[in-house]
Amino acid sequence: METDNFSIEFFPPKTAEGAEKLRATRDKLALLKPKYFSVTFGAGGSTQQGTLDTVLDIKQAGHVAAPHLSCVGASRESLRAILKQFQSHGIDRVVALRGDLPSGYGGGGEFRYASELVEFIRAETGDWFHIEVAAYPEVHPQARSPQDDLQAFARKVQAGADAAITQYFYNADAYFAFMDQTRKLGLDVPVVAGIMPITNYSQLMRFSEMCGAEIPRWIRLKLASFGDDSASIKAFGLDVVSEMCVRLLNGGAPGLHFYSMNQAAATTALWERLSAAPSAR
Ligand code: FAD
Repeated sequence: METDNFSIEFFPPKTAEGAEKLRATRDKLALLKPKYFSVTFGAGGSTQQGTLDTVLDIKQAGHVAAPHLSCVGASRESLRAILKQFQSHGIDRVVALRGDLPSGYGGGGEFRYASELVEFIRAETGDWFHIEVAAYPEVHPQARSPQDDLQAFARKVQAGADAAITQYFYNADAYFAFMDQTRKLGLDVPVVAGIMPITNYSQLMRFSEMCGAEIPRWIRLKLASFGDDSASIKAFGLDVVSEMCVRLLNGGAPGLHFYSMNQAAATTALWERLSAAPSAR
């Protein structure tokens, strides 16, 4: 089973040593031939230069790279300058987000929601960028209701997003239900499933708490039962996540986006497992 719509996410390294390590990771993951690598962006501008540097590094190595861009706390002027910078480097895809300001950050800014950012990018740059936005099959943690969140997604598509990537989840039915709802609203953009490999129990619990991803009870209990046995956690994680990926692809998901955490091993293992799986499509 394979999909050609397969992308990999990195975060910008903070040190020169980290950048060197990321190059090695990227070179390994490039062997899997992803469609593109994306690089996250710290809301409030904390990693702005790091995002651009990492994207340019990836491009220079001959791969397609997409910066993320968040709008919370930003001014129109600062975003205009960033978009111009992206264009001047020939960058033509972007993942457009609201972002989450670090706690203690003052806030302010001229944008409230990602839909406003998508609208702004289209107004400023027309069709230059292929724009991806975020989608939440298990509902964004700050949403007033699932219906409101779906409307927020619809607004991003109506503002000009070409495609979406989901927050990670471990329940394929949440993805399928979300897709049914988007189709009922007449939204037909591809929604690529965001996939977080399972490699570390406490880190997974921490992230999932923050972003509203649910770890099903049976998975949580099983992971907890392995204690410090990292090999068993990884082996079980590989089984669970690869089975979910097969279900997603067989059920019509147009592609997969791997949250690599700047590591090659887990994404490679998943990809190899998927490549060996027979296709039901
Ligand atoms: P929005 O779509 O604006 O939604 C945010 C909240 O506002 C939701 O609860 C929504 O229901 C609500 N809402 C939206 N519009 C309205 C409206 N008009 N009225 C009332 N409520 C509304 N964060 C980063 O800082 N940097 C990154 O690089 C980054 N990359 C990510 C990549 C992916 C694929 C995903 C899934 C998330 C990423 N995030 C990143 C996290 C993201 O910024 C957070 O989840 C953030 O809280 C919401 O961003 P959004 O773009 O989904 O916001």
